[in-house]
Formats: sequence, structure tokens, C-alpha cells
Amino acid sequence: MIYRVNPKNKDQISQLGFGCMRFPKDDADVEQQVVYAIEHGVNYFDTAYIYPHNEERLGKVLAKGYRDRVFIATKMPSYLIKRTESFSRMFNTQLKRLQTDHLDYYLIHMLTNTGEWKRACQIGMRDFIDERKASGQISNIGFSYHGGLQEFKDLVDVYNWDFCMLQFNYLDENNQAGKTGLEYAAARGIPVMIMEPLRGGRLAANLPKEALRVWENAPTKRPPAEWGLRWVWNHPDVLTVLSGMNTLRMLKENIRIASDAQAHELSGAERALYDEVCRALLGQETITCTGCNYCMPCPKGVDIPLCFACYNDKKTGLGNRFTLEFQYIQRTYNHQASLCVECGTCEKHCPQSLKIRNELKKVAREMEGLLYYPTRFMVKKIMHLT
Ligand code: SF4
Ligand code: SF4
Repeated sequence: MIYRVNPKNKDQISQLGFGCMRFPKDDADVEQQVVYAIEHGVNYFDTAYIYPHNEERLGKVLAKGYRDRVFIATKMPSYLIKRTESFSRMFNTQLKRLQTDHLDYYLIHMLTNTGEWKRACQIGMRDFIDERKASGQISNIGFSYHGGLQEFKDLVDVYNWDFCMLQFNYLDENNQAGKTGLEYAAARGIPVMIMEPLRGGRLAANLPKEALRVWENAPTKRPPAEWGLRWVWNHPDVLTVLSGMNTLRMLKENIRIASDAQAHELSGAERALYDEVCRALLGQETITCTGCNYCMPCPKGVDIPLCFACYNDKKTGLGNRFTLEFQYIQRTYNHQASLCVECGTCEKHCPQSLKIRNELKKVAREMEGLLYYPTRFMVKKIMHLT
């Protein structure tokens, strides 16, 4: 196993982290995989309050003598919290489930923007963090994030974070916070943990044949999942990559790759292969936005690259339709495609010469259908969006 050093506190973290969200159904399998991972050098385990029973299941295994060999990361869904006392109640529940007296890496789960951060602070989030850090019950505080680039930068700057967690993979290099976000955080000394390195497994299995052919014809023979993981580890600013492993075979394979993959290892020719695969994945029906942000800001608040990225996700079939529509609402809330008034300002700045106004109409038709407003109302309530 290769370890990377947390620049803030010098923790040596295995570059392969265990994402517990996709634990197998059987408890015996969970124990076998967690123990195998620890015995083979994995020392970072990531779970969350909202993953049903996963904190308990991880805690049960770690209590058998493994707790001190690993870093536990778990997350608080601040968007569910309305009262001050709920922070402590939820946190204490997590300690109990995980059978521990402290959490090494604690995240605000899916923090959407500085508005949500301020709302949570108004009901006591910051005091709660300060107290638990002072008592040693939280060692490092961070947040996980799925939104656009600008809001990510604002969040990075709003508080003295110890770390953060982003979705990052070769198809999302310029999507969400993307590579620019990764480098922005790293430049401020904030270590970045990576989730969804294979887009929930979709860059590993069932690739369209044009994409598969690129990997099959590559001079170095590697399975698609290995290409996907190596791309993420190629970035030196990545501290650890969480993989949602749920079979022993997958775990062994990922440990093999993580024992060998290095930052800066991919050649220019290899990096070109990823571009080819991306083109094959994105196909004809997608919008060829590169996420450069030159068209921004829009005077009406449309997050143009984010709207296009959500649309492309749906068109490429990389995800469950309902989840993608839900994510579109959450990620583009008050920045959605239908806000466009067709002033045309943005099109003058697009290096890809995209007909942004027409493309946004396409996005609105696809993503803002009949169920858009009822679902938006529900998302607003759940996520405290304003
Ligand atoms: S054309 Fe639409 S998206 Fe572009 S700047 Fe004007 S309102 Fe914004
Ligand atoms: S300028 Fe064009 S390519 Fe760049 S983000 Fe905007 S729409 Fe996409």
C-alpha cells in the first residue's frame, strides 16, 4: 500500500480509502472485507450518519481490536438539523454506533453553499465544532461537496477547514469543483479526499463499446477500473481515494493497484487515451462544454457549465434518472437553465462557440419537466435551500 501524507497534520493515509456506503448485505462479508483491507494496509474508512446501519456495522468490526489502526471518517447531515441540541445528539449517536470516543475525520455532509453553512452556524454548528475539537472528540473537520466551482471556492474560504471531499474522476475533470477546485483547495493547504473515482462503478463496467475499444487497444493492458483509479492517483493533490468496494475480489484488485499507482505516472500518450474515452462516453447527444467558465457570470444567475454537466450526465446514462434529476435541482437551485432570458452575453465569451441559449432551452426541456416543481419544493424543504 502506498501512503500519502496529510500536509496539515502529517497523518499517513493509505491512498486507497474504504467507502462503506456500498457494504455487502451479509455482516460476515463486511467483517471479512474490513479486516482484509486493514491487514493489507487500508487505514481510512469513510461512512455517514445517513448510510443505513453502516456506522454500526463498521463500529462492530473495528471494536474487535482494529480501532487504533485506522482513521474513521463519518459525516453529519447538517441539512436535517433544525435545533442546536441536535448537533450533539446526532454526534453522540455516531460515537456510540462506531464504538469509539473520537472521530478522526468528521465531515459536514453535502454542504451546498455558504448560505447553508451560515444557517447551520446560526443554530450552533460552529460552537459545536469548536467544543468537540477542543475536547478531542473531533480531530479534523471538513465537508463533502457536489456543487459547482464558484460555490466550492466560497466554501473553502468561509472557514478554517482541515480537509474536504470532492467527486473527481476523468469524466468530471471539469465538472462540479473539478480539477480547478482540487488545486484551489490544495493551494490553501487543505487536503482533498476523493469520492466517486469511478462514478459509482460506471467507469468500470458497462462502458459503451467505443470507449472499451480505446482501453483494449492501449499499449498497456489494464481493466477500465484500473485506468479510472490511476487517473485520480495521478494527481499529487489527492490525499486518498474512496472506493465503494463490496466484494473481496474488488478489494484485492484495488489494493493491488493502490500498492503501485503513483502521482505523475501517466504519460502524455496515456492521458490522450482518457480524452478519447471521454469523447466516446459523451457521444453525439451531449453538449460539448469544457467547463472553462469563460461564459460566467450570467446576469440572471444561470450556472451555465453546471446545467450542461447535469444534462450530459443524464444523456450519457451515467446514473439513475431520478437521482440525476434530483441532483440537477439541488445543484442548480436558483441557477437553473430556465432562468435564461436569452440576452446572449455569454455566447460572446465561449471558446467552443456554443449556442448557449439554444443549449439551455434543451437543458430546461430535458431537466425541468412536469415533476420539476413538485420535486424542487421537496428538495427545498429537505436541504433548507433558499
Ligand atoms: S443568454 Fe441566458 S445564460 Fe447567457 S448570459 Fe444571457 S441570460 Fe445568462
Ligand atoms: S464558455 Fe462555453 S465551454 Fe466554457 S463553460 Fe461556458 S459554455 Fe462551457
